[in-house]
Amino acid sequence: MSGQVKGEKIYRGIPVSAGVCRGKVLVLHQARHVIARREMAEADVDVEVKRFEESLVRTRQQMIEVQRRVVENTSASTGDIFDPHLLMLEDRVVIDEVIRMIRQQKTNADFAFHTVTDRYIAAMAKEKDEFFRERVDVLRDVTSRVLDNLLEVRDKSDLGHLKEPCILVGHDLSPSMTAQLDRKFVLGFVTDIGGKTSHTAILARSLDIPAIVGAQTISEELETGDYALLDGYNGTVIVNPTDQTLFEYGQLAKIKASLDVKLREVQNQPAVTLDGKAIHLSANIEDQHDIESVLAHGAEGVGLFRTEFLFINRDRLPTEDEQYEVYRQVAAALKPHSVIIRTLDLGGDKFASHLQLAQEMNPFLGWRAIRFCLAQPEMFCAQLRAILRASAEGNIKMMYPMISGLDELNQAHALVEKCKAELRAKNIPFAENLEIGAMIEIPSAALIADSLAKRVKFFSIGSNDLIQYTLAADRTNEKVSHLYQPTHPAILRLIKMTVDAAHAHGIWAGVCGEIAGDPVLTPLLLGLGVDELSAAPAILDQVKYMIRRVKLDEARELAEFALASESPTEIEARCLEFARQTAPSLFENRA
Ligand code: PEP
Ligand code: MG
Repeated sequence: MSGQVKGEKIYRGIPVSAGVCRGKVLVLHQARHVIARREMAEADVDVEVKRFEESLVRTRQQMIEVQRRVVENTSASTGDIFDPHLLMLEDRVVIDEVIRMIRQQKTNADFAFHTVTDRYIAAMAKEKDEFFRERVDVLRDVTSRVLDNLLEVRDKSDLGHLKEPCILVGHDLSPSMTAQLDRKFVLGFVTDIGGKTSHTAILARSLDIPAIVGAQTISEELETGDYALLDGYNGTVIVNPTDQTLFEYGQLAKIKASLDVKLREVQNQPAVTLDGKAIHLSANIEDQHDIESVLAHGAEGVGLFRTEFLFINRDRLPTEDEQYEVYRQVAAALKPHSVIIRTLDLGGDKFASHLQLAQEMNPFLGWRAIRFCLAQPEMFCAQLRAILRASAEGNIKMMYPMISGLDELNQAHALVEKCKAELRAKNIPFAENLEIGAMIEIPSAALIADSLAKRVKFFSIGSNDLIQYTLAADRTNEKVSHLYQPTHPAILRLIKMTVDAAHAHGIWAGVCGEIAGDPVLTPLLLGLGVDELSAAPAILDQVKYMIRRVKLDEARELAEFALASESPTEIEARCLEFARQTAPSLFENRA
């Protein structure tokens, strides 16, 4: 037993990805640089200069290692992006100035280095010349790495150093860091902050890694080397579990194993209610690597392909051809099932660092998704052409995220027509009748669903955003997670309004937000008339298990009750009761 926690101790957070794991904790410290000036004794000045020079050497070695790994995983030319970093680490003008300051002012190396580089950063940032402005980011990155070494802060964004399986504990994990997690080494993770429908949580479910967010100060309380059990069903982290606790979890594992057998049995069965209503059950994916899991869980294609993950964790935009190849691969592998490609939804909590966009005060209300794409027609059209070209190779449909009104929809449609004309002119094949849908994830879109329905072939309700925008509760902020209520009457009315408008215009309506993967809410959504549900592949078996035990009439009664109720908690309790009675096996390992 190591670390500061002695004896068994339980921490609680928000469970976001099911599963139990146990192992050694690795705490990712935030790269906080608290840089204070310290006076050095004359005798220590040489030591301080040496410490500074060593930090430069160490940073250089680390950068070369990062470059080597990048070249190994991509191409030699990609590694070139680190050349300016390496050059800056040898810049004698800066280095000599720092050493002069350490010697003359008898100050600590981190303070001198920070002061000097800050001055350069400020001067370069003011330059109009693109060359200097690009160098600002390089200098910031290099500075931060040198300071990490001087202050001995481990670089939390470099998870490549994991050598043995561990439970990651951190203040936060960005979606781009989560996307890089290696399941071989990451048993599970827990963060201080975050919400159930943040993209970090969504990725954890997609990777099938048990995870908890919103565990408050856990990253400050645990230490690397602590031993913990993480329960992603109930949102608990148990440090130094006793034999009794381990025994109890052993019993739960047995229950889980018997449930898994039942779930495997439904994988190849249709998603049909007891009274014969077929529900289209599809999968949410992030890239082509998810194909195997989609097939393994018997999904009827893809209901949401979040294409933005092709744009992050890289140093430049993917080309039209690179995108085409990925879309083509997915469409071909899942044919004849449909694959709904959602056009790029960058912004909010998903950023492509290479685009170097200015920070916004309210990123979820800002330059995100279709707004960003319509302002970058060249980039958007490259994606549209890639999707259109891939539509010749399988059953592809497309949908736009974050539609707030007709103008955006019309503009997007016009760009699609322009791209189609370009392809026609070059005799490049594509599906002329490719179906286009709109995501309904902004309250304004739900309220004008009747107008939108005349102009698209389907609706896909993005409940993650619909809830945050309707209830003004940030989906990534654990402090307002109590307000983020899927069963709020306002949400249910908007869903009903959307479904009714779709049906009145002869199109279908699905749900691809996280509520589609919550078996507790499955009967309610069926009762509201939803035609399609799309969720992470790993959760689909449970949703199907529930669908196959539901009678549509009873689900409709549940929805009627919910639509008449004024209380989110009353609706939630009724849904839970209904779900437990309908499929008790799904709930045996929940608290
Ligand atoms: C949603 O908002 O529900 C959705 C499916 O899109 P995303 O989670 O990627 O914002
Ligand atoms: Mg969304």
